[in-house]
Amino acid sequence: MKFYSTNRKAPEVDLKNAVLNGLAPDNGLYMPEVINPFKKDFFEDIEQYDFPDLAAQISRQLLSTAIDLNKLDEIVKAAVNFPAPVIQVNDNIHTLELFHGPSLAFKDFGARFMARLMSYFVEGENRKLHILVATSGDTGGAVALGFHGMPNIHVTILYPQGKVSPLQEKQLTTLGGNITALEIDGTFDDCQAMVKQAFLDTDLRKELMISSANSINISRLIPQIFYYFEAYKQVKKSAEKLMMCVPSGNFGNITAGLFGLKMGLPFDQFVAAVNNNDGFHRYMETGHFEAKPSVQTLSTAMDVGNPSNLARINDIYKDDVALIRTDIHSASYDDPSTQRVIKEVYDQKGYILDPHGAVGYLASKAFAEKHPESLCIFQETAHPSKFKEIVEPLIGKAVEIPEQLRVLMDREKESIKMDADYAEFKTYLNSLKTL
Ligand SMILES: *Cc1c(COP(=O)(O)O)cnc(C)c1O
Repeated sequence: MKFYSTNRKAPEVDLKNAVLNGLAPDNGLYMPEVINPFKKDFFEDIEQYDFPDLAAQISRQLLSTAIDLNKLDEIVKAAVNFPAPVIQVNDNIHTLELFHGPSLAFKDFGARFMARLMSYFVEGENRKLHILVATSGDTGGAVALGFHGMPNIHVTILYPQGKVSPLQEKQLTTLGGNITALEIDGTFDDCQAMVKQAFLDTDLRKELMISSANSINISRLIPQIFYYFEAYKQVKKSAEKLMMCVPSGNFGNITAGLFGLKMGLPFDQFVAAVNNNDGFHRYMETGHFEAKPSVQTLSTAMDVGNPSNLARINDIYKDDVALIRTDIHSASYDDPSTQRVIKEVYDQKGYILDPHGAVGYLASKAFAEKHPESLCIFQETAHPSKFKEIVEPLIGKAVEIPEQLRVLMDREKESIKMDADYAEFKTYLNSLKTL
């Protein structure tokens, strides 16, 4: 089983190298060379599997010749240790809650699987793997919690001082152990530039094995396929037609859904819901994609002007927009609509949406009105308490903070303060060589 680059100017690699490299040397994204569909009877009997077992079946089907299967089962079952329930919100609109993991966002699936897979792959290397991540909030939390305590790996997280929420900062700075937080006197872009420079530093890379944990990594997408099947399992008896709506930013999540489709998953339609960062929506409307600088919205994790996983979507559909449109419908909503619907759904149905899920709900509602025969599922990608500053004034009450986040709030913050300066960062990186 090999992985090829979407730019097709780099050699094919095995799973270990696809995971440890992240990006292909030609700057393309790795794709599995083949995706074999399940047989029909798998879907007929899908209820027999609980979520971890189902995840193991899916990963075996996809990676059968890429890794020792017993090891794969072990990794998958350790990663998928929290549920993904489908809940009815309004008539034929349901939500798939993906926020029951340690960082309260769907990125936990990707981070937990990636951490265990990487740890396994570096076991025989006799040296530590260093993960470097720049974060504006959500990714860093999932990565910190996912990699915490993983053998053979040390994680350095760079975040812009004063620009992540207090709860997010707790997730980055209170774990200790193999997680180090660098509090950078600068912006997220500064943090990202420092990480990029480290990857281009050939002297450093001779002595330090480094890798990234961002969403271009194929190992973050694989575990995201699992919950599409888990959702299907829960609703298959309820409707003739199924629609899945994905609040999207970098389009990694929906790409995982498309992998699921290739594996035979019987969804009839996908809907990509975006905020005012609507490049993909315009692409579907006009047939031309134009990358733009991102604009800030309430659904911050979707503020992406140039979604990297578009390279994978274009690869799957051979750059044929008409073909993409047959599987993916798109819709874009602004902040006032997002705020209105958070209030409305709470007032009418008692369900608390987060700003990302709210964009998904809006797109699902519009779709459901045109397709009353469809059962529509939108993904709740984060728990509303992560965005309580936005949600609470709209619903007029406090959002309860789940236990896993509450325990971090009492812990002491530990960070290394640093200027947005590569020389200073390099001194820090050099000190890691003796770890
Ligand atoms: C990352 C994220 C998204 C966007 O997912 P993509 O895979 O980048 O499209 C949506 N919602 C939340 C809460 C996120 O953290």
